[in-house]
Amino acid sequence: MNSPRFRVAICGGGVGGLTFAVALSQYPDIIIDVYEAARSFQEIGAGIGMFTRAFKVLQKLGADVEQHLLQYSSSEWTEEFVSIIKSRKSDQPIGTELFELTAKGHLMRFHRPHFHGVLLSHLPSTCTIHNAKRLKSYTQPTDCSRNSPIALTFTDGSTAMCDILIGADGIKSAVRTCMLRELAESVEPGEKEFILSCIKPVWSGVTAYRALVPAEKLRACYPDHRALREHIQYMGRDIYFLTYPISRGKYVNCVGYTLQRDLLETIYEADGGTPRPSFEGKTNNEWVGELTAEQFVEPFKDLEEDAQRIFECVERGTIWAVHIVKILPSTNFGRVALLGDAAHAMLPFQGSGAGQSIEDAYLLATVLGHKATTLETVPRALAIYDKLRRPFFSDVALRARLTGQHCTFQADVPLHELGDAMSKNWEWTWLTELDDALEEAVKLVEDGSSVIIC
Ligand SMILES: Cc1cc2nc3c(=O)[nH]c(=O)nc-3n(C[C@H](O)[C@H](O)[C@H](O)COP(=O)(O)OP(=O)(O)OC[C@H]3O[C@@H](n4cnc5c(N)ncnc54)[C@H](O)[C@@H]3O)c2cc1C
Repeated sequence: MNSPRFRVAICGGGVGGLTFAVALSQYPDIIIDVYEAARSFQEIGAGIGMFTRAFKVLQKLGADVEQHLLQYSSSEWTEEFVSIIKSRKSDQPIGTELFELTAKGHLMRFHRPHFHGVLLSHLPSTCTIHNAKRLKSYTQPTDCSRNSPIALTFTDGSTAMCDILIGADGIKSAVRTCMLRELAESVEPGEKEFILSCIKPVWSGVTAYRALVPAEKLRACYPDHRALREHIQYMGRDIYFLTYPISRGKYVNCVGYTLQRDLLETIYEADGGTPRPSFEGKTNNEWVGELTAEQFVEPFKDLEEDAQRIFECVERGTIWAVHIVKILPSTNFGRVALLGDAAHAMLPFQGSGAGQSIEDAYLLATVLGHKATTLETVPRALAIYDKLRRPFFSDVALRARLTGQHCTFQADVPLHELGDAMSKNWEWTWLTELDDALEEAVKLVEDGSSVIIC
């Protein structure tokens, strides 16, 4: 290779970081280093689902990547309309079917290690993975137009250099902490406090209960139980419980939620049309804990009999205090930017957090990889990314909250209209595409004059 255009450090090799690495590696004059805190990618477990819009972005990574991913998906790829979720009114002894959610394409489900494995296997030699490297902090030149490198420091005491740093390091992002401190130093005192308040994730008022039930165990007791075949939502006032089969039918994945009504209402406040979070001082420091079967079932003991049959087969579970990242004032500063949960960890009710990380990754790679982007214009490219992505993922975060309210009868919608309301709120995931934003991004990169530089 002739001298590289620039060296990009990606902090975090999760869904967003690895998608970004694969997308950016389509530009061979860019050197990529991925710094991942985990010792190996096998440490990252659990399942992940993607709607049509997000999967179509993955298809842009190339036919090889797509075919490889499809080998591991428990659903077939289609753009036909299919039934994806059945929802029931379950806060009564015998539940009733409320509606069936129909979408263009299945929810594509993967086991996370498989997903990571596919992306890792498609990285070229211009990309180096560094495991067991947890970023502690960075320093970048104060004048972002100067070309001197950004210095990275890791918790093991080692250091590294890069031209551009991308924080894909998840909800507790170290890059976000440093970047927001830098940003706060650059603004008027009145804005500083709000910026600094966005560093720490906040508890959303939502608690998640998770368990895996062996399908054999449920089948032995209730051979025709619907949870063995279908994605079901058992909905009640302030709580809901969902199940779907995973690992090609070996397990029934169970997730229950309780939502504190007053807290959920205050996650985002309208402020002159701009969604603004208001959650100061409300935290739940216990992020994850272990549960016995009895503890798992307790919050859901009044749900319908059909759900109780699944609970009989629960052996143990985990409890999660669901945290979110406030809507940030910016995703970039100088030659540093955030993507994925580092920028917008959101409520899980639309199954779209990973999908949004994938969209961030592809659009960011498009603006940085464009031949018009040079080291001098990187801050402008990152501002274009921010301009096109931040309003979109902030809207998705609000939609995720609304889906949570729909599923717990907290939204002001009569039951007979709930199906339509939910479908309308969710249909962006299968009726829209990232392509318009990508086109706009390229246009803006080629005509940089209309975008403010840092
Ligand atoms: C229980 C649960 C279920 C979910 N299900 C879905 C779903 O079905 N569909 C969906 O779209 N979304 C889902 N989400 C959301 C989704 O998991 C996240 O939005 C997505 O993983 C975000 O990807 P990311 O790459 O930004 O962050 P992560 O996947 O969290 O990756 C961050 C990476 O950074 C590494 N890291 C952290 N700190 C450092 C550091 N200082 N230095 C270096 N590396 C670091 C971590 O080890 C990790 O590998 C779910 C979330 C939860 C909690």
